[in-house]
Amino acid sequence: MAVHGNAETASSTLTHLECGACGATYPADRPMGLCPACDRPLLARYDLDQARRTLTPQGLLRRPASLWRYVEVLPVQDRARRLSLGEGWTPLLHARRLGEHLGCPNLYIKDEALNPTGSFKARGLSVAVSRAWELGAPALAIPSAGNAAGAASAYAALAGLPIHVFMPVDTPAPFQVECHSLGAQVTLVDGLITDCGTEVREGARQQGWFDVSTLREPYRVEGKKTMGYELAEQLGWTLPDVILYPTGGGTGLIGMWKAFHEMERLGLVGPERPRMVSVQSSGCAPIVRAFHAGADHAETWQDAHTVASGLRVPAAVGDFLILRALRESQGTAVAVEDRELLEDARLMGALTGVFPAPEGAATLSALRRLLREGWIQPHERVVLFNTGTGLKYAHLWQGREGAAD
Ligand SMILES: *Cc1c(COP(=O)(O)O)cnc(C)c1O
Repeated sequence: MAVHGNAETASSTLTHLECGACGATYPADRPMGLCPACDRPLLARYDLDQARRTLTPQGLLRRPASLWRYVEVLPVQDRARRLSLGEGWTPLLHARRLGEHLGCPNLYIKDEALNPTGSFKARGLSVAVSRAWELGAPALAIPSAGNAAGAASAYAALAGLPIHVFMPVDTPAPFQVECHSLGAQVTLVDGLITDCGTEVREGARQQGWFDVSTLREPYRVEGKKTMGYELAEQLGWTLPDVILYPTGGGTGLIGMWKAFHEMERLGLVGPERPRMVSVQSSGCAPIVRAFHAGADHAETWQDAHTVASGLRVPAAVGDFLILRALRESQGTAVAVEDRELLEDARLMGALTGVFPAPEGAATLSALRRLLREGWIQPHERVVLFNTGTGLKYAHLWQGREGAAD
């Protein structure tokens, strides 16, 4: 009998959860937070021998243009629980003019701004909210200073689940307005994102809300890992030489690194891997500091400040997984100035047609530095992740229209 490769008949091959730190395993059929044994992130595991029967380059050609095309390696079991607003399958753009300008002709931008709600947070939250809904969560909660809140609100609205969003009081208006308009219960907190996290965990304990904070439940990283599958598929089942990724909690970087291992086991790519580069802002660079110090964990960054709100993560619960991926990939970590990334947003805009989020622009600042230092060679194939649209951050450039670079 012919092997069925279409998304109608293929299904999730999720088997269990495994702690990324202590290796303890748990059943995947109930809502889970951090590892009960060691308080570290749990990762989803699949029956990849089963998955490889249907997850083939040929079979994928007939599948939907969204991240749900990779259904075998996603956790949601019931088709009716897949919440989709068209997330994923974003374009991989050849940045011809920008590449010529930099002397790096094989330059690509993975443009995540085209996701629902304008950022790649839609990937993680599409999958995490679907799975929480499938497992019977009565209500959701999330602390966020930006894009995660909007994405969580959108998928909660689609499911019909109540969601409680906790945002620092100084969160820019577009992010607040978006959550309100999507029907979320928004609470402004006079404090930092860490204080918002405390409120969420309090509500989780007392009201039974399910906490969808990044890496505190196992499935946002599963949504984000699809960036790795897409890159490979869009490059004809090859991988680039270098990936520059703006790193806050690091979910996407951890996810892509996981995806590359899965894809090798699935027979989709070989053992070669891209060099992974974490890009942070010099106002909040705990991963950069830990990487260059040779540490396994990152110490909390004091007085974190940057206009790139997605990078303002002073302590990441998955720090050890980010650092492990950087080292295993022979990658590196780079901190760039806010002034630089704001200017580079305009350079990227004018030479590519993509108006990036400040986080995405930071990858261009890092690329320019790594080319100058010779760490990236001019002929190498390089992918920048533009993780969101610049439009929600328009206030950052307002009044600077004529400013010289
Ligand atoms: C959240 C966010 C980031 C950081 O993503 P992580 O995967 O948590 O490191 C980068 N850019 C934008 C636009 C974001 O919203």
